[in-house]
Amino acid sequence: MRDADLIPGDSNKASTSGGETFYPGPSRIHLAAFPPKERWDDWTELDSQAWPRRKERRYSLVPTTCFNCESACGLLAYIDKETNQVQKFEGNPENPGSRGRNCAKGPATLNQITDPDRILYPLKRAGKRGAGKWERVGWDEVLDTIAARIRKAIVEDRRDEIMYHVGRPGEDGFTERILAAWGVDGHNSHTNICSSGAREGYQLWMGLDRPSPDHANAKVIFLISAHLESGHYFNPHAQRVIDGKASGAKLIVFDTRLSNTATHADHFISPYPGSEAAILLSIANYLIQNSLYNREFVRRWWNWEEYLAQRSEVGDQRSDKQPRSGEMFIGTEPTNERDSNEIAEAINISRLRRSDSADFEEFEGILKEVYAEYTFEFAAKESGVEANALEEIAKVVATAGTRFSSHNWRSATSGISHGWSVARCLFMLNALLGAVATEGGVFPNAWNKFVPKPIHTPPHPKMWNEKTWPREFPLAMHEMSFLLPHFLKDGRGKLDTYFTRVYNPVWTNPDGFSWIEALTDENLVGCHVALTPVWNETSYFADYILPMGLGPERHDIHSYETHDAQWLGFRQPVMRAARQRNGEDVNDTREVNPGEVWEENEFWMELTWRIDRDGSLGIRQFVESRKNPGQRLGVDEYYGWIFENSVPGLPEKAAAENLTPLEFMRRYGSFEISRKVGAIYEEEVPAEELDDVAEDHFGRVFTRAAKPASPNVVPIPSPDGDADGRRLVGVKVDGEIKRGFPTPSGKLEFYSKTLADWGWHEYAIPTYIKSHVHPDNLEADQTILISTFRIPIQIHTRSANAKWLNEIAHTNPLWLHPKHAAKLGVRTGDLVRVETEIGYFVVKAWVTEGIKPGIVACSHHMGRWKVHENGQKQMMATVKLDHEGTQWGLERESGASPYESKDADTLRIWWNDVGVHQNLTFPVHPDPISGMHCWHQAVRVRKAESADSYGDIHVDTEKSREVYRKWLTMTRPADKYSPDQTRRPYWMLRPLKPAREFYKLPESTKPAPR
Ligand code: SF4
Repeated sequence: MRDADLIPGDSNKASTSGGETFYPGPSRIHLAAFPPKERWDDWTELDSQAWPRRKERRYSLVPTTCFNCESACGLLAYIDKETNQVQKFEGNPENPGSRGRNCAKGPATLNQITDPDRILYPLKRAGKRGAGKWERVGWDEVLDTIAARIRKAIVEDRRDEIMYHVGRPGEDGFTERILAAWGVDGHNSHTNICSSGAREGYQLWMGLDRPSPDHANAKVIFLISAHLESGHYFNPHAQRVIDGKASGAKLIVFDTRLSNTATHADHFISPYPGSEAAILLSIANYLIQNSLYNREFVRRWWNWEEYLAQRSEVGDQRSDKQPRSGEMFIGTEPTNERDSNEIAEAINISRLRRSDSADFEEFEGILKEVYAEYTFEFAAKESGVEANALEEIAKVVATAGTRFSSHNWRSATSGISHGWSVARCLFMLNALLGAVATEGGVFPNAWNKFVPKPIHTPPHPKMWNEKTWPREFPLAMHEMSFLLPHFLKDGRGKLDTYFTRVYNPVWTNPDGFSWIEALTDENLVGCHVALTPVWNETSYFADYILPMGLGPERHDIHSYETHDAQWLGFRQPVMRAARQRNGEDVNDTREVNPGEVWEENEFWMELTWRIDRDGSLGIRQFVESRKNPGQRLGVDEYYGWIFENSVPGLPEKAAAENLTPLEFMRRYGSFEISRKVGAIYEEEVPAEELDDVAEDHFGRVFTRAAKPASPNVVPIPSPDGDADGRRLVGVKVDGEIKRGFPTPSGKLEFYSKTLADWGWHEYAIPTYIKSHVHPDNLEADQTILISTFRIPIQIHTRSANAKWLNEIAHTNPLWLHPKHAAKLGVRTGDLVRVETEIGYFVVKAWVTEGIKPGIVACSHHMGRWKVHENGQKQMMATVKLDHEGTQWGLERESGASPYESKDADTLRIWWNDVGVHQNLTFPVHPDPISGMHCWHQAVRVRKAESADSYGDIHVDTEKSREVYRKWLTMTRPADKYSPDQTRRPYWMLRPLKPAREFYKLPESTKPAPR
C-alpha cells in the first residue's frame, strides 16, 4: 500500500492489501480500523470478556444505519454465529457520509434493541384515554380497525381528518407517497420546531433549503451553533470540520454558550442571543466597503438587476421600512396591508423592464450605501462583543476566498423571531465571496443528495389541508404542527385518525399541556395511533400503541448532504439480512424482530392494502407487486426494484461482485453514486433541452422541450414557466444559457421578490431585525433562557432507552454565569424558579463561566416523565399530573432508581435525577414568515420558594392561548396579502405538494385582484 492511498480522514479511500480491503486506523499505516469487507461473512475476534483466555467469537457483520438522529450514520451489526444475537454495533466504513465513525448514540443502539422496557406487542387502551390501562391486541385487529376508519374518512371526503405526524423521518419519501396514494394532504412534521428558520433563510437565497458545506476543504469554517456535538449532521459534519482544521482551516464559532465546538474554535464569540445577523452584516459591510468580495461572482450570479429594477419602480423603501435600528415586530402593528399591496403592485415583475441605466457599478454603489450602517460599532452595541474582535473575524473571513464553508441550522435561527434572517445573512457572506458550490464552499443540498425514483409514484393529493398549512403562514417552510392543539380548539376542524410516528409532541413541543388537553378530547381527536419503539409521554394519550422497529429492525433508504458527493444509505433489519445471507426466506420482518415488533414500511403497505382491498378506490395499485399482480408488494421487491432501476452505477458494481443490486446493498449498506458534483449552476443547458426558447427581461430562459427524466427525484423547487406554457430551463449569463439556481430569478436572490410580493417588502434584502428577546422587548427583571442546545449524548425521546447514554448524561441543570448567580444568591445545586409567560419550572442551578453573563440555558433532552407504571424506568421520573380548568401542575414523585429486569444492569442504576421538562412551560411563538417556533424565552429567574420542589411545573393553558393569539396577529395571511390569489408561492418547497389547482384560495377568501 502506498502512503498516497492513506488519505487522512477518508476511510473510503481504503486500499487493498493481500487482496483485502484495508481501512486505515488513526495511525494511518499500521492498524486497520475495521475488518476487511471481504471477511464480513465470517469474522473472528477474541472475546474481551473471556480475557485472559483466548476465546474466539465468530461473527457475521451486517450493515444498517443508525436511527437516533437525522445523520443516519452507517453501523455494522456484529451478529454472533453461535448465539444468533447482535453482540455489538460499530461503524460501517463503507458509508460515505460517516466513514465508519459514530457518536456515542450509534453503538448504544445495542442497548435499545435489548431494552427491558421496550414495547414488544401492539396495545389498545383498556380504560379512558390517558388512564394508563392497556391490553394486548393482534396486528390483524389493529390493521382492520384503522383501515376501516381511514377508508370511511376517504369515502366520506373527510380526508383532512387523517393526519400523520412524524419526528425525524430518517427516510426519503416513503410515507409521503403512502399519504399521496390515499389522496390525503395529511403529512405533518416536527420541522417547524426544529429547522424551518434556517431553511427559510437558505431557500430565499438559493431556492434550496439546506446548505451542504465542504468543511474538509475549507480555508475558513464559520459555524453558528455547536456543530461538533449537536449541529446538523453532526457526526459527518463534525469529522469534516476536524479534517478541515487539521489541514489548516480557521474555525469561527458563534455560540452564547461555551460549547464543545467553541472549545475547538480559533475565534469564538458569545453574542447576545438574536444579535447574530447584526454581526454578520457588519462582516458583509466590511467586505463590501473594502471591495473584498468576489465582484465577478456577484455580477454574474446575484439578481441585482431585479433589485435595481424594483428600486427604480418604487424607490428605496428601505429608509422608512427597513428596521435598521432593529425595530421589532412585537408590540408593533404589521405593515399596513394596503401599503404592502401597493408596493407589491408597483414591483410586479411582469411589468418590469430591464432599466437601461441599470448597471453593475450602480448596484455596487447602492450596496455600499445600504449596508454602510452595519458598522462593527453597531454590531458591538447589539451583540455585546467588542468591535475589534468582530473586525478581526471579518479580516479572517476576507482571507477565505471561495473556500469559505459556513453553517447554521438550529441555534439562533430556531431561537428568535425572524431567525431565518440569520441564515440569510450568513449565506450572504458565501454569496459575497463566491463560495457557492466550490471546493471548500457551500453547496445547495439537493446537489449533494440522491433520492431514487420508487417503483410506484402516486399523484399529488387533490386537496389542501388548512390544519397544517393555514393561510396565516403562506411562506412557512413546513407544517404549522405545533399549533395543532390551538387550531383544534379554535374549531378549525377535527381529526378522525391521528398517527404520531416516533414522535412525542407532548414532551418535545412547546405547550405540552395544550397537547394533553387536545389529545384527551375525543371530539377533537377521534383515534390516536402512536407508532413508537418506546414508551413516551404522547403514547400515554393514544388509543393504540404499535411497536415499531429500531434502526437494526427496519428498512429505509436515505441520502444526506454531508459533503460534495451523492450517496445512498440503506437501513435494514440486520437479523433478516443475516438469515437471507444464509439462504433462508424471510417475508415479513416480524419473523426476525423481537416480540411482534414490526417495521413501518411493511405496516404502511399492509394498511394501505386493507384500506382498498378490492382496488375500487384506486389506492391499492400503489402497493401492488409488479412481479405478482394482485398481491401486495413486499420490501424485497420494493427495494430490489429501486436498486436495479434508479441508482446509476449500482447494478454494474453489484454485478462485478456477482451480486444483485439488492444483495449488494444488504451486504455493504451504502453506495456512492458520485463525487465532486461541482457547480451545477454554471453548467450550460444542452441544446436538446432548448426548443422554441423565450427569454425574459432578466435573462430567464424558457423552453418547450420536455424535462429529461431523471432517476434522482430529490425535491427541487419549481419556479413558474412563462405565460405561453414553456418551462423555465435556465438563465442567460454573459450570453450563455446556464442551469442557474432553482429560484424564480434563476440566480441567487439577494432581493427576494417572493418576500416583497407576499407583504414583507421591508425584509426583501438581507436585514437585521430585532428579535422578540431583544433588550428593547424585555422588562427590566427579565433575561433570556436558551433551550435550543443539547448535550451530545442524548437526543429527544429516542435515546432514553440506552443505558450507557443514560449513565453518562441524565440531567439538565440551568447554566448561570457566576456574576448572575451571585446577584441571585444561588450556588450550584440550589433550586431556582424559572418563570415564563405561561408558568414556571423549578430546576437546579449550575454556576459556570461557560455562558454569557445574564443569559441562562437549559438542555432540552432531559426531563422525561411517566404517570403510570409503563415507561422508560432508567430515564423517566414518576410524576403526578393535576389540573383544574386551565391550571396544570406536574409534581415529581420519584426519580430513577434500581429495578429488576432481564438486564442485570438495571439493578446498578445509581442516579435519581433525570432532569426537568422545561418545554411544558413554553408558549407557542410561531414566526410570521418561516412558521418556525421561536424557542428563546423571556424569563424571570429567582431563588426557588420554600414550598418549591425539584421538577415542579405549573402552567396556565389559558395564558398559552393568549400568547398564541398575540403571535397570530403578527402574520400577514394569504387571504389579505397573496399577490396572485393563491395560498402559497407555488415555487417554494412543500412536503407532499398538492395538485396545483389546490393552491388557489377558496373564492370567498381571495384578496381583491391587483
Ligand atoms: S446519533 Fe450519532 S451515530 Fe447515530 S446517526 Fe446521529 S450522529 Fe450518527
